[in-house]
Amino acid sequence: MNTLDFQRPASLAEALALMAPAQASGRSWLAGGQSLLAAMKLGMATPSVLVDLQDVPGLRDIRVESGPDGAQTLWIGAMATHGSVAASPTVRGFAPGLAALAGGIADAQVRAMGTLGGSLAHNDPAACWPTGVLAAGATIVTARREIAADDYFQGLYSTALEPGELIVGVRFPRLQGLHYLKFEQPASRFALVGVAVAHTGPGPVRVAVTGLGMGITRWPAAEQALHGRLSLPALSTVAADGLTALGDLHASADYRCHLAGVLVRRCVAALTGEALPRHAPLAPSAAGAPAAPGAEEVPKDGFGGRQLLAASPERVWQAILDPQNLQASIPGCETLAQRSASEYEATVKVGLGPLSVRFQSDVTLRDLQPPRSLTMVFVGQAGALGSGQGTARVRFEPTADGGTVLHWWVQVQLSGRLAQFGNRLVEASSRKLSEEFFERFGRVLGVPAGQLPPPLSPWRRLQGLLARWFSVFRK
Ligand SMILES: Cc1cc2nc3c(=O)[nH]c(=O)nc-3n(C[C@H](O)[C@H](O)[C@H](O)COP(=O)(O)OP(=O)(O)OC[C@H]3O[C@@H](n4cnc5c(N)ncnc54)[C@H](O)[C@@H]3O)c2cc1C
Repeated sequence: MNTLDFQRPASLAEALALMAPAQASGRSWLAGGQSLLAAMKLGMATPSVLVDLQDVPGLRDIRVESGPDGAQTLWIGAMATHGSVAASPTVRGFAPGLAALAGGIADAQVRAMGTLGGSLAHNDPAACWPTGVLAAGATIVTARREIAADDYFQGLYSTALEPGELIVGVRFPRLQGLHYLKFEQPASRFALVGVAVAHTGPGPVRVAVTGLGMGITRWPAAEQALHGRLSLPALSTVAADGLTALGDLHASADYRCHLAGVLVRRCVAALTGEALPRHAPLAPSAAGAPAAPGAEEVPKDGFGGRQLLAASPERVWQAILDPQNLQASIPGCETLAQRSASEYEATVKVGLGPLSVRFQSDVTLRDLQPPRSLTMVFVGQAGALGSGQGTARVRFEPTADGGTVLHWWVQVQLSGRLAQFGNRLVEASSRKLSEEFFERFGRVLGVPAGQLPPPLSPWRRLQGLLARWFSVFRK
């Protein structure tokens, strides 16, 4: 059983002393507990001390401030609840779009407890606040420093916060307009996909998207198209498939990109007052284009990549079978023992979003076709959290100059409590681990990893074929 201490400091100084860097390890700030307590109940977060911020004065403040240059900004304290932001006349007057965003989060109970600071620290890849904060170009103010939103969000559940660093509040610039829209998960009201568009007048426009799977992100193509030209026609050149998304059982990657395209148009229409044509498509999506003849068939589930190595397939093959190389290449591999020519036992500690999970794993090499292809099967047990299974199919393609292109395709499945993370988190974490594996393998092999051109999408391949075909007639 884990022991848990609970502290309820009555001042900021007391709170910061409890979370001094030397003792921050294993300690967590507690805001409204809307994410943290759920993770603890599932055994997915195990802090030894909770430092409750409820009684720290000043953290719920909402006010308009004037800078030295006279420019006004909106300050929202980290402990301001979504409900208090939604109802605040100050926020409604300064940035009505932010009040509307907060009012659309979850239900009344969650809005009464959940906080701006907690949402930003947690940085759920489907959350609403991070999208508004990123689109607004706001500044996250901690007890140690000020962090621009562009530097703060660092991917799935990942932020620039250091251990024990406390968000004190967020400073929003004066905006001409901000509009946030989401296509909701009916159960939680988290965003399946959400888009925020913000601008400070003629000129730059910032567009942020949530729910695509890899964390909150800006949408550069939409921003460029709308720069100095905030209007629906400006979006006609923007293709939604320029975004990167992950699919899961709720929505495919293509559908998420499609939703982002629909929502950005609706946001722009809301900001400009333009009437939204019923069917006003963005630029044609490559995702919907027919597959090019000869395009490589890939399995429906999973993800893959390629790695160019300056070593022959025979040498790469020998290296990948060496247990020492395997141990050095598997990220988080603590121990690895060989049981037979093709079977290994390993202890691997992996990061799944905000958590770190230790798997007792069996690794088996199958379908060995030296030196052309093999399959690695990982079966891991994570105690009460459940289990995981992964399959990596690896193909060794010789290059003209004696090197090897490793092609890999990975499929992962979790069961038990781990499965509650949802496919997108699992896929994002597994993708990161797989890329790291092949990068590390290149380093272990002691040969430089080369740069491969990005694989062409089927639509781009078709465009290339058509261009070549037409050029024959032009001659
Ligand atoms: C049923 C349900 C539906 C939801 N729907 C939505 C939705 O539609 N949209 C949406 O955006 N969100 C949604 N949420 C999330 C909700 O908005 C919470 O704000 C979010 O879960 C964070 O909770 P919290 O503020 O209580 O923080 P906690 O759960 O207390 O803390 C979360 C994390 O942040 C850290 N933390 C808290 N405060 C600070 C601080 N000041 N400085 C540094 N670290 C801090 C904690 O240590 C912890 O790691 C939903 C949650 C639930 C339970």
